[in-house]
Amino acid sequence: MQKEKNKDWSDRHRAARKKSIAQQTGGAAAVQKERKPEVCPVSRTCGGCQYIELPYKKQLKKKQKAVEELLSGFAEVEPIIGMEQPYHYRNKVSAAFALDRKGHVISGVYEEGSHRVVPTDHCLLENEKADEIIVTIRGLLRSFKIKVYDEDSGYGLLRHVLVRTGHATGEIMVVLVTASPVFPSKNNFIKALRERHPEITTIVQNVNGRNTSMVLGEKEHVLYGKGYIEDILCGKRFRISPRSFYQVNPVQTEILYRTAVRYAGCTGRERALDAYCGTGTIGMIAADHAGEVIGVELNGDAVRDAVTNAKRNGVKNISFYQKDAGQFMCQLAQQKAKIDVVFMDPPRAGSDEAFLTALSRLSPKRVVYVSCNPETLRRDLLFLTKKGYKAEKIQPVDMFPGTVHVESVVKLVRK
Ligand code: SAH
Repeated sequence: MQKEKNKDWSDRHRAARKKSIAQQTGGAAAVQKERKPEVCPVSRTCGGCQYIELPYKKQLKKKQKAVEELLSGFAEVEPIIGMEQPYHYRNKVSAAFALDRKGHVISGVYEEGSHRVVPTDHCLLENEKADEIIVTIRGLLRSFKIKVYDEDSGYGLLRHVLVRTGHATGEIMVVLVTASPVFPSKNNFIKALRERHPEITTIVQNVNGRNTSMVLGEKEHVLYGKGYIEDILCGKRFRISPRSFYQVNPVQTEILYRTAVRYAGCTGRERALDAYCGTGTIGMIAADHAGEVIGVELNGDAVRDAVTNAKRNGVKNISFYQKDAGQFMCQLAQQKAKIDVVFMDPPRAGSDEAFLTALSRLSPKRVVYVSCNPETLRRDLLFLTKKGYKAEKIQPVDMFPGTVHVESVVKLVRK
């Protein structure tokens, strides 16, 4: 009986999906006019873009199928929303510097699973201006006698360059990651870099003296400009510091956040919780539609940015707490707090039992789950659907074209 029902459902669903993909305008429209996939000479050694050799339409199909296989038992999966221009979307670009066997300076990405630098000047996923700036920096090193850092000997200065760009504002931040705080020719170097790229709005030195695979260290010195950039998402301005989390694909992030806010179905009176809130982006966008928003986040830097962002945007009905989201939820449940809607956007590992148990005790009318990992999403949905919730809508969004990764938003309602 159940099987029959599923078959009937999947037939209907297949037909609906075909129709829907054909109807898609905007988002995946350009996908209709299939263009030949671009090629990258180092994609196989770098390993960062597993799907780059597939036509974009095929990439989307594979992602749709992956999400359906994992989640269609919970609710119908809407057709994935793809990008019109699925290249050069990454607003955050990081390059490692090293010497090749002949002693020439190279820059690029680490080969998958190693610290061997694969030299590359262009990446099909990265912002092109950012790539250009990195090549310029590499070209300047010699005349300023800046040595690149050697992991084995511990000798040399420059380890990485990170470039972050504000998609809507055009602001550009360059972070020079050095092994020591002493940067002899820095003033002239900054001057030369700014002459070649007047579009750079801020330059920061980040000191990372440790032997670690983390790109950024703890200490920072602003060398030029304000030390952060801003970007605009869904009409709100967000400050992005060198180390704070910000979604890497700003075009798709707007679609993702708008979907999340729509699924929350707020009418202006609700008390909403933004769990795993980062710099407060989702909560701040939802705040216009809710009575009150509470954000909770573990990372202190992110919470500080969130508070600044709320002030900067004049959002008065939001407050933030720096805490483990699970512990915070338990506290709220003990206090029998009244929460109408919960947004949750955990890291790849998903949520945990403490959080999910407290969530079901708090029993909000709606839960909007934003996830970058459909496998942990499935695990958490299995839990929530046994604790009084029903998934009503599932919307995959392609935040990471060219890669295997896929983001999904799920609307859950209390049964
Ligand atoms: N919603 C934000 C951030 C999502 S990334 C955005 O869209 O920009 C996930 C966030 O969860 C990160 O900021 C990370 O610091 C935070 N996080 C990870 N573990 C956590 C925990 N146990 N409790 C609270 N926040 C956590």
